[in-house]
Amino acid sequence: MKAHSSKVGVFVRIRPTANFSKDLIECLPDGQTVNIHHKKDSRRPQDSRKSQLSSFRLEGVLQDVSQGELYARVCQRVVLGALDGYNGTLMCFGQTGAGKTYTMTGSTESYKQRGIIPRALQEEVENRTEHAFSVYLSYLEIYNETLVDLLSSLQGSPHPSPRGMVVSEEPGRGVFIRGLSIHPVHSEEEALNLLFEGEMNRIIESHALNRNSSRSHCIFTVHIESRSRTLSDAKYITSKLNLVDLAGSERLGKTGSEGRMFKEAMYINKSLSFLEQAILALADRRRDHVTFRQTKLTHALKDSLGGNCNTVLVANIYGEAAQIEETLSTLRFASRMMCV
Ligand code: ADP
Ligand code: MG
Repeated sequence: MKAHSSKVGVFVRIRPTANFSKDLIECLPDGQTVNIHHKKDSRRPQDSRKSQLSSFRLEGVLQDVSQGELYARVCQRVVLGALDGYNGTLMCFGQTGAGKTYTMTGSTESYKQRGIIPRALQEEVENRTEHAFSVYLSYLEIYNETLVDLLSSLQGSPHPSPRGMVVSEEPGRGVFIRGLSIHPVHSEEEALNLLFEGEMNRIIESHALNRNSSRSHCIFTVHIESRSRTLSDAKYITSKLNLVDLAGSERLGKTGSEGRMFKEAMYINKSLSFLEQAILALADRRRDHVTFRQTKLTHALKDSLGGNCNTVLVANIYGEAAQIEETLSTLRFASRMMCV
């Protein structure tokens, strides 16, 4: 991986819905500001005002943008950066139903609606004249701090590895998941087939274990090895592009305060808050003080976040009145990342 410095790019994408609440959510013409007019701040019950305004300024507010436009505006530079040897991480964050998976993977039925991963694969795998690239793929799911290999079905069915996968680090190699299968791909078609298989396994596995697939984090990683064809003594450059579909960030209602759902929510909450802490601390140039090992998510992303890496966060919001508290909480998270 090469070294350069960059900041976290933070964008908000609004899911188009029939009941989009124009009264509550106002996107300003600058394309960077979203205002939320909310009835009452639940954190300040003593406040007697009927309505209140929260204003969030981000790198971009994306409303009614196509999958292609989103890719061009938000992702392409990170994907091309990975081809140039810079590690990159693209993450979708937000409540369940807000459009994270649509943004990351997109519709499998419509080519036009394909998401970030297929577009990135097209870019990465396409032949480039001046470089020789080798591309490998892996697909990891993290559920309640258990690691699942979504591409292990080539050897059987998806499973939390019986041998126990672990996040490891080695000098010169960086962070990797011991036990996770990594697959070389030579064409876009081959890459898309693996993505499709991983998606299927995500669904099959969640059915088998009777749980909702939105309760896990998924990290699709493109591992790139490149060698210059023009310079005879050129060394290999390796880089990673992590495409992350985070677990739903919603808070539990009173109904889910025990049992499996509670446990899931607790793990999600913990990993998202450590993710935030890690990103904030990295920006503070206190890299040594960042504790990545607290959760599997932060540990797995350790060498793909912060100063030397391109990091982009897409905060997905669901613009309906009933979801306004979750929308606010997603926007607050996004604007905290904006300071980085
Ligand atoms: P999440 O992964 O955040 O739980 P999904 O990506 O599954 O949410 O989105 C929920 C539903 O909304 C899906 O049916 C998806 O196709 C649709 N959807 C989400 N975002 C968009 C969008 N920008 N345009 C069209 N449909 C969308
Ligand atoms: Mg999803």
